[in-house]
Order: sequence, then C-alpha cells, then structure tokens
Amino acid sequence: MLLLTCPNCGIAAEETELGAGGEAHITRYGAGSADDDFETYLFMRKNARGVHFERWRHSNGCGKWFHAARCTMTLEVFGTYSAQTFEPPKDLIKKIKKKRPDWEGFVK
Ligand SMILES: [Zn+2]
Repeated sequence: MLLLTCPNCGIAAEETELGAGGEAHITRYGAGSADDDFETYLFMRKNARGVHFERWRHSNGCGKWFHAARCTMTLEVFGTYSAQTFEPPKDLIKKIKKKRPDWEGFVK
C-alpha cells in the first residue's frame, strides 16, 4: 500500500484516500502554441523506471493537490511537497541523490 503524507494538511494518507494526477512538472501549452509543443503537452510522458515525480490529490481529505517523489519500481517514497512549485525542492533532490547515486537528477 502506498502511503503519502499530504503537505497541505500533514496527514499520512493511504492510496485509497488519494487521486493520481499523472506526471508532475509538465510544461503546459495552450491555444496559439506550436502544434509540436501542444502534442508534447498532451501525449508525451516520461513513464520513468525509477525516480518519478507525480501529482496527487488528497481527494478524500483536504481536497488539495500536491507533488510526490517516489520510485516506480520499489514504491519507496522520497517525499511530498507543494504543488505550487515549478520543480522539486533542492533538499528533496539531495535526499534522492544520496539514496540513489546513479540517478541522473531532475530533468524537466
Ligand atoms: Zn491533505
């Protein structure tokens, strides 16, 4: 069972209390953007094997969105943080690199 701590309300929520929102930190392109950019926004996802940054919603709790960093192979959760960011916090990146020295780092 996946257990994520919501950074908005501080509750450690089980997966059944949460709603998955897909990959985090996606550059969003809207009307008037180039077709290739819009296609990338709609369809292209990293689908990482290993460290992955995701959007989650505490749907059966406070209802707010947040981001989580976890390993898709082991389900190890490295941390959660506010959804109001354009990239993961530096201290979380350091924590992941310490645990996973081979990790290439955050790539947008
Ligand atoms: Zn919450």
